[in-house]
Amino acid sequence: MSKFCPSCGEELKDDAKFCKNCGASIPTNEQAQTTENMQQNYPIETAGNDHKVAMILGYVFAILIPIIGIIIGIYLATRNDSPNAQKHGKYIIILAAIIWFISLMMLR
Ligand SMILES: [Zn+2]
Repeated sequence: MSKFCPSCGEELKDDAKFCKNCGASIPTNEQAQTTENMQQNYPIETAGNDHKVAMILGYVFAILIPIIGIIIGIYLATRNDSPNAQKHGKYIIILAAIIWFISLMMLR
């Protein structure tokens, strides 16, 4: 399989390191293939990974944030030394539960 100069398009020998026509340095087969593989695989894999991470984070936060709200609400609701904290704790639990319920309904 013959190569071509990336600079001027001159046909070259497989083992040519420099173009005999314009003198440009020619990447070896190995380097050329590595570059080609990186160009082909890198953007696709990165995009796929990014979406996967975003999806996982989305699920984690969608599930965790109402749970964190409920945990904080339970913490406040069980503060026997402060009726005000208990009242707001219950509100926080109800609010987090409603938000959780709405997000579950929107998935359907
Ligand atoms: Zn050339």
